[in-house]
Amino acid sequence: MQKNDILKLKNKDCEIQFNADLKKFCTFNIGGKSKYLFIVHTNDALIKVCSFCKLHNIQYKVIGFGANLLFSDKGYNGAIIVNRSKSFMVRKNCVYLDGGLSLGSLLSILASHTLSGLENLASIPSTVGGAIVNNTGAFDCNFGSFVEYVECVKQSNLTKKLRLKKDDCSFSYRNSLFKSGDYIILRVKLKLYNSTKEKILSKIRYYTLLKTENQPINFFSAGSVFKRSMLPPAKLIDELRFKGYSIGGAMVSIKHAGFIINYNNALAHDVLKLIRIIKRKIKEEYKISLVEEIEYVKYIYKKD
Ligand SMILES: Cc1cc2nc3c(=O)[nH]c(=O)nc-3n(C[C@H](O)[C@H](O)[C@H](O)COP(=O)(O)OP(=O)(O)OC[C@H]3O[C@@H](n4cnc5c(N)ncnc54)[C@H](O)[C@@H]3O)c2cc1C
Repeated sequence: MQKNDILKLKNKDCEIQFNADLKKFCTFNIGGKSKYLFIVHTNDALIKVCSFCKLHNIQYKVIGFGANLLFSDKGYNGAIIVNRSKSFMVRKNCVYLDGGLSLGSLLSILASHTLSGLENLASIPSTVGGAIVNNTGAFDCNFGSFVEYVECVKQSNLTKKLRLKKDDCSFSYRNSLFKSGDYIILRVKLKLYNSTKEKILSKIRYYTLLKTENQPINFFSAGSVFKRSMLPPAKLIDELRFKGYSIGGAMVSIKHAGFIINYNNALAHDVLKLIRIIKRKIKEEYKISLVEEIEYVKYIYKKD
């Protein structure tokens, strides 16, 4: 693929970088370089770039804030497409949101329209797209519960928009139909409750404080490393005295044993090794097989 052919996609809605540093596009601050990186600002640009990649057999992955991702140290041998399409509309107690809108902006919009429901998710770094894929949640509140429908396209047919109702999205704990990677999320309709601005803002402050007190939010991380199991992973990891244990620049957080932080230029290799050690020890001691919540984005070797 010639650089010039790719540059034809460049316009105000589509920024392009070559050999882009993936550290800057994830909250772990870890990863090699991506051969191509697109930052798209509209759904049209998103589809256009995906279609281009598909046509030219370039492997691609759409991401939000990379807040659940661990990129390989080797980088990505294709195109990372960063979704920053942020349009939204409010109608009565429903909102229509593009996949690139942040949860932070969404909560401000909801508060100003006195719409309640998602305050428990305050201060979670996420786009709407990422929150749909992972059914992101906190304190017994999951994003998927508020979905009316998701507008998306299937990777196999990028020209046909689909509108999937909540029941078709298979939302479950940190999971959804979209986790398969077969879909690109464009727009989402949510239905919320009416409340008062004071109540909403007070809940947002409360949940933000809880997060700040209990999680290492001042360090690079990708949130909880493991999914909930029969017993909370953080409790088990803490019991085995892993807090503060480190490999290279990656460390089990002293504040919250469920988090691995990048405290000193960690490599993905360090994080993966730490995960392996923790999983092995938990299996030995408790006969529990922990499952990763964070997603490792591999480098895939292919001929050009
Ligand atoms: C400090 C911290 C605290 C956190 N706390 C929580 C918490 O309390 N609860 C919780 O559930 N999570 C938490 N997380 C994890 C993370 O914030 C969530 O998983 C979040 O929803 C990820 O959103 P994102 O936009 O960054 O998605 P990304 O990490 O960029 O992507 C996640 C997945 O979604 C896919 N994707 C993203 N957008 C699209 C799209 N438009 N179309 C198709 N696929 C798409 C990506 O390909 C990837 O597979 C935390 C993370 C951090 C760093």
